[in-house]
Amino acid sequence: MEKNVGIPIRLLIIEDSEDDALLTLRQLRKGGYDPVYRIVETPAALENALLEETWDIVLSDFHMPSFDGREALRIVRERGLDVPFVIISGVLVEEDAVEILKSGASDYVRKGNWSRLIPAIGRELREARGRREQQRAEEQEAEAQERYRNLFESAVEGIFQSTPAGRFVTANPAMAVLAGYDSPQELINSVRNISNELYVHSESRDMMLEILEAHGMVSGFEVEVYRKDGSRTWIVINSRGLFDDSGKLELIEGFVVDISKRKRAEAELANMNQQLEQLVADRTSELEQKALELEQANRRLQEVDQNKTAFLSSVSHELRTPLTSVLGFAKLIHRDFCKVFLPTSGVDEKMNRMGDRICDNLDIIVNEGERLTRLVNDFLDLVRIEAGRMNWDDQRVSPTRILKGAADAVNGLFVETPGLDLVFDVPEDLPDMTIDPDRMTQVIINLLNNAVKFTHKGHVALRAAPDTESDAIQIQIEDTGVGIPVDDIAKVFSKFHQVKGQEGKDIGTHGSGLGLSISQQIVEHYGGTIRVQSEVGQGSTFFLTLPLNRE
Ligand code: ADP
Repeated sequence: MEKNVGIPIRLLIIEDSEDDALLTLRQLRKGGYDPVYRIVETPAALENALLEETWDIVLSDFHMPSFDGREALRIVRERGLDVPFVIISGVLVEEDAVEILKSGASDYVRKGNWSRLIPAIGRELREARGRREQQRAEEQEAEAQERYRNLFESAVEGIFQSTPAGRFVTANPAMAVLAGYDSPQELINSVRNISNELYVHSESRDMMLEILEAHGMVSGFEVEVYRKDGSRTWIVINSRGLFDDSGKLELIEGFVVDISKRKRAEAELANMNQQLEQLVADRTSELEQKALELEQANRRLQEVDQNKTAFLSSVSHELRTPLTSVLGFAKLIHRDFCKVFLPTSGVDEKMNRMGDRICDNLDIIVNEGERLTRLVNDFLDLVRIEAGRMNWDDQRVSPTRILKGAADAVNGLFVETPGLDLVFDVPEDLPDMTIDPDRMTQVIINLLNNAVKFTHKGHVALRAAPDTESDAIQIQIEDTGVGIPVDDIAKVFSKFHQVKGQEGKDIGTHGSGLGLSISQQIVEHYGGTIRVQSEVGQGSTFFLTLPLNRE
């Protein structure tokens, strides 16, 4: 048994003699082949064999009863197959051999000449393989070319080749569209000098050529170009130079992208920026102007305020001195007249009545004089505080002592008002604080006085407690008096504000409308706050917060 170790080969044998065919097969096996084969002897069988399978080689007899080798070759070639076709024939005249080779047979070998047939088959197979490979390579190349052509044709970027002199060598459709031409061919034919006809500034192209010559490539080169219709557009070019053997620039090839939209957006942005800057500049100068005006107004106000302070201060001083002597003499006259002179006036009714009237009038003078003195003193206090000229005699003191002192000072008022109690609710151990004791007493007395003045019955309470959380003491002066209408609450701390139509009682001190204002200034000087809660008919509570440890 022969072993199948040979080269596989698919063999189509056209032969009317099976013996001859088998002989050939045997020789082939001997020659190192391992054939898979089919033997056909009619055109129809040949057609089928070609249709059903592919063959590496066809070996054909020339003279057969039903058809000859010429006919067989025609059938094979008509199918478009370039499979090696080797004629094996007994007798073949020279002309037939030449003719059949001309019409496409690969070779012919005499029957029985095995030493020629085997190498011939090898050669044919090799050549066929070579042909197939070459064909495949060609197909691949054609495919690649087709791919590149597609890429070139359908690219959205413009692709071009141009000469340094300024003619297009190639251009793709996108390039033509970009420049406003109908086709690449039209672009190539129409533009004879790219620098002059396409570039808005021909120097730009010179510059690009210079860069190409120096560096071999240019990227991101932005230029403005004319389109066919004369309109302008911005493009960006990425290109490289191709040089001849002597190093001379021969061709420029590259990509072009239309950036007119981006350029327009950039221009709009720049424009907007400019407008914005202008707007900001306008606003800034407007603001500067306003600030200047404000500063001037402020300076004028300060001047006015200083003038006012100086005026009030001098007027108050000027008033105080004569007032002191008027009041002093009025008191003296009152005492001399009412206590010494009047009792000696005898029994004349008329004289006594007149004397009493003079006493009453002198009383009024003394009271009004005292009121005026208080007003002037309050005035001076306020002016000094506001002008920062107040002398603060700060000491380490116990707030409890101050609160007690203030309560004692107003105690007489409660004795005079039956039905009104003073509630004193202050712990003994309030922590010490640094403050001017006279000023703090002044604030508390003022608040207690007000409370008594506007409370007819019930109580006035003075309470205090330390507030460890905010490191302060909280003081409350609470009354059950007439209260303050909502509209006035925010105004009671303003200078001279007095609630209209309020039923206060005469406690010998006519208000100046400055007490709360001064109190607020003092409390704020020590970093504290003062506020009021009140309800008409129910009473008022003033809340004071004084920090214990001030920076
Ligand atoms: P005055 O010297 O007139 O009391 P203040 O500045 O001390 O001035 O008070 C201003 C005004 O606030 C008072 O005239 C009064 O109308 C109102 N007021 C102050 N304290 C009380 C209070 N406890 N109850 C009701 N009204 C008050």
